[in-house]
Amino acid sequence: MNSAFIVAVEAQASQRPDAVAFRNSRGERITYAELKRRSDAAARAIAANAAVPAGAPLVVYGHKSPLMLVSFLACVKSGHAYVPIDVVYPTERVASIIGQLGETAAIDTTGDAADILGNGELCPIIGLGLFEDEGQQAGPESQGALEADDTFYILFTSGSTGTPKGVEVTTECVDGFYRWLSACEYSERTPDEHRIWFNRSPFTFDVSLTDMVAGLVFGDELFALEDEAEKSLALAFESFAGSGVTDWVSTPSFVEQCLADEAFNAELLPDLRRMLLAGEVLRPETVRLAQRRFPGLRVFNGYGPTESTDLVTLCEIVPGMLEQDRSLPIGYAKPESRLVVLNPETLEEVEDGEHGELFVIGNTVARGYWGRDDLTQAAFHACPERLAQGQRTYRTGDEVTRDPDGLYYYHGRYDLQIKLHGYRIELGDIESTLAALPEVHMACVLPVVRDGLISHLVALIVPSDLEAPRGFELTKRLKRAAREVIPSYMIPRAFKYVDTFPLNPSGKADRKALAALIAD
Ligand code: AMP
Repeated sequence: MNSAFIVAVEAQASQRPDAVAFRNSRGERITYAELKRRSDAAARAIAANAAVPAGAPLVVYGHKSPLMLVSFLACVKSGHAYVPIDVVYPTERVASIIGQLGETAAIDTTGDAADILGNGELCPIIGLGLFEDEGQQAGPESQGALEADDTFYILFTSGSTGTPKGVEVTTECVDGFYRWLSACEYSERTPDEHRIWFNRSPFTFDVSLTDMVAGLVFGDELFALEDEAEKSLALAFESFAGSGVTDWVSTPSFVEQCLADEAFNAELLPDLRRMLLAGEVLRPETVRLAQRRFPGLRVFNGYGPTESTDLVTLCEIVPGMLEQDRSLPIGYAKPESRLVVLNPETLEEVEDGEHGELFVIGNTVARGYWGRDDLTQAAFHACPERLAQGQRTYRTGDEVTRDPDGLYYYHGRYDLQIKLHGYRIELGDIESTLAALPEVHMACVLPVVRDGLISHLVALIVPSDLEAPRGFELTKRLKRAAREVIPSYMIPRAFKYVDTFPLNPSGKADRKALAALIAD
């Protein structure tokens, strides 16, 4: 069976073969016909490569190049799930992911990442040769398509104990997401409408699936930033000019960064019509400013964890919502997902308007965490069977309310997972990394909140040697060592040193008391 999503993308290769499917700020581009031809050829090469373990998930390493898309399609067409790893990941994180996968091989779309991928010691590395022998091989177009219940991709996300966890999303999940997104209000379009989507989020982040699915199945064009343009807003703006972007998909954090510069306006992006923001809290002032800069802009708020295949709720932010004295809604549930709000302790359903924990039920819920039955059990099997009725379920950890008309509102987390500048981070991930350094006896990481958003992280440290100097040099050393293990966006901005941690009655670091220590 071929995935309905893949079939829809491939149909574009015959309907509009010369249309550009993907383009980046470096000028690299690929048409729908090329995407099909090159991914077919790469799928054949993968199937013929004796070093690739049969049916194993395959790492796809790189950032925003056409070869990433070619590789994703090639993997699923040759019967392998793909596991994107972005260039921002440090060597140890990459090794941890490859180690967890066990049997795998890594496709290096950059051509120069052999050292980061372990020089062949962690797993076989497939270089750019994979993409060179197109046309030379004959054979069937598909070597071993994935079944509905097979894993389509695995996204590794921050884990609370210092080890990233891999969310296994199945073909059925992706196809359910595609069916909903391509038919929902957001996708309503005139027959000849051609959209150009800003594909902002790294492929390691589920938000990127939104524009990949909503754009590619209609034969639209994805536009992404590569290299320097990714790191400098000035260069990003240069790339936006003339990009023709009609649809913006990103986290609120990224659009806020752009809005901070007055040059981000309708003169820079004259064709921008819609903005879909997802992944973290959307503030009314962000919507108001965006609509002032881009008159007529329609703004949508989307919510959903990686574990439930990207978005599970979505709504347009209409003027009445901006005038209310409450946070913005995260949307109405998509029909493929049944959402229930439960008291997190009793697991009884709460009334509309009451706070509770959101559980997602249905066929867009992922299979679980790769190789982690313990974590899978806790998150994917916590929903009472009387509600699950044999379907897959996911406990989100999100505190929400539902209005009687079915509109959901987000109120925070029940645990220590946070969003910082759009990145999903478990504070325990950073704490374990810091506590493993020889200079550190205990570590506690706290978010600092400004204007309702987390602005940065502070690490409180009890040093191993209480007599040793605690100044700038120690902080520099700790940051450098941590950067070897976790991505830069997880490194706390400030470090403070204390002799002991106040403890709560259960003997754990008392976060409230520690927060008082860093309060301004
Ligand atoms: P991720 O798996 O990276 O997509 O992160 C999922 C988590 O991000 C959710 O469980 C929420 O805590 C948060 N989140 C996602 N979308 C929103 C939103 N629109 N508003 C508030 N929080 C959100």
